[in-house]
Amino acid sequence: MIEENTLSQQLSDESAARACKTAFMYHPIFMEHIVGEGFPESPDRIPAILGHLRECGLMEQMECPEVIPADERLLHLTHEHYYIRRVALGCMGAKPFIDTPDCPLSPKTYEAALYAVGACTGAVDAVMEGKICNAFCCVRPPGHHARYNQAMGFCYFNNIAIAARYAHTKYELKKILIVDWDVHHGNATQEMFYDDGDIWYFSAHQAPFFPGTGAADERGEGKGLGATINVPLPAGSGDKEMIQAFKDHLLPAAQKLKPNFVFLSVGYDNHIEDPLGNMVMTANGYYQLARIVRGIAAEYANNRLVAVLEGGYNQLATAESVEATLRAMMEPSQKKS
Ligand SMILES: [Zn+2]
Repeated sequence: MIEENTLSQQLSDESAARACKTAFMYHPIFMEHIVGEGFPESPDRIPAILGHLRECGLMEQMECPEVIPADERLLHLTHEHYYIRRVALGCMGAKPFIDTPDCPLSPKTYEAALYAVGACTGAVDAVMEGKICNAFCCVRPPGHHARYNQAMGFCYFNNIAIAARYAHTKYELKKILIVDWDVHHGNATQEMFYDDGDIWYFSAHQAPFFPGTGAADERGEGKGLGATINVPLPAGSGDKEMIQAFKDHLLPAAQKLKPNFVFLSVGYDNHIEDPLGNMVMTANGYYQLARIVRGIAAEYANNRLVAVLEGGYNQLATAESVEATLRAMMEPSQKKS
């Protein structure tokens, strides 16, 4: 009897592991958002990640669903109509940048941005349809600084915020958690859900630093009071401080919310080798953080987790850190039954 139980447990563990596939969402157009020489958010970031994942054998272990561009109407979930037109027309009219020189435009920038959003909403659909259990969206341009009507910090449209609102409306998920570990505070993601209450936002980031938001006393307002959680950390912080922040502030929030979908803004600009950030994280630190987030998704959200690339400007460090993140995402479910 004991042996039978053990065998059936083993078989069910194996089938759970098989069902829990990770998708890698990518499209070549992400390299056609062209920026100037020496600009940190470079098209070369993408082939650096792809090459490394192929070399270490992870790519062939993942599903690679076709990425299609988002319908323009999805941008309206979190952005102003006039702003959307300004970005589209700016690309057609060969304007050098929109709103700030930090946000250069090229002829394919708008189209690449539509594909970036489409990768994220496509990942939500694939997870909700049970085709995969989690996904890594290897997209550019990034999104977490893109405001309702303003481009900012290399970002044009807020990929993760649109995907979260998409999951909220299409699938009527009322308890969504967005975790953001980029070195910069995701000011725009925070403000889009600041008074929401259904979509929670957690960020641990370097402070003081660009964009200047993300103080611990920014906690949301109205229905959203308490649904924004910020952990500002001083320059020089690394794996230990970030893991502690996740344990002390993210885990209790997750326990309170019991999210039914988890999103993760992954930036690797807090890596010790990054030229922009002043934190000292390592690839192993990202692995540990991803395990915590994966654990939250397993515990409460039936494994539903979509990670979206934000920053990370040392290409080798970013590629190795993406690998570390994926290794945690691809581990069998940690949920104890
Ligand atoms: Zn960043």
